[in-house]
Amino acid sequence: MFDVLIIGGGVSGMSCALVLGSAKNKTFVTDKKIGIFTHQKNSSLQEAIFYNAYGITPGKLGSELLTESTQDLATTYPHITQIPNEKVMKVEGSYPEFTVVTNKNSYKT
Ligand SMILES: Cc1cc2nc3c(=O)[nH]c(=O)nc-3n(C[C@H](O)[C@H](O)[C@H](O)COP(=O)(O)OP(=O)(O)OC[C@H]3O[C@@H](n4cnc5c(N)ncnc54)[C@H](O)[C@@H]3O)c2cc1C
Repeated sequence: MFDVLIIGGGVSGMSCALVLGSAKNKTFVTDKKIGIFTHQKNSSLQEAIFYNAYGITPGKLGSELLTESTQDLATTYPHITQIPNEKVMKVEGSYPEFTVVTNKNSYKT
């Protein structure tokens, strides 16, 4: 049972996880169970090479950033549950209860 389930381990998903992770001591996040499906196979970043991004060494591969992002999240905010190697097939239900069905499991929110 999760309070938040983030779908996708690209820039948007990982940024969301980092923001929620960094807010762990705030009242709106305390005691919340947060997970992210860190599927990265289809990220646009897989094909990217960075030459003009502030703070990123020119020539850095997007695929490297993707790998590093999950490692950094695990190190910095280990209370965020990473769910690797699962693709979301459908989201069922309506607010406030949803079921997220992947190719391997299903998760309640
Ligand atoms: C060739 C190229 C070069 C680029 N260069 C730059 C650059 O230099 N600087 C820059 O800022 N931007 C660059 N971009 C753009 C950058 O890649 C995108 O802006 C960024 O990836 C968008 O992030 P996103 O999280 O929205 O989408 P994505 O990174 O595409 O992430 C979506 C994630 O969701 C996952 N996903 C999809 N379907 C499912 C599912 N059913 N279940 C679970 N997970 C799923 C995917 O695997 C993926 O990891 C480049 C893009 C390309 C293609």
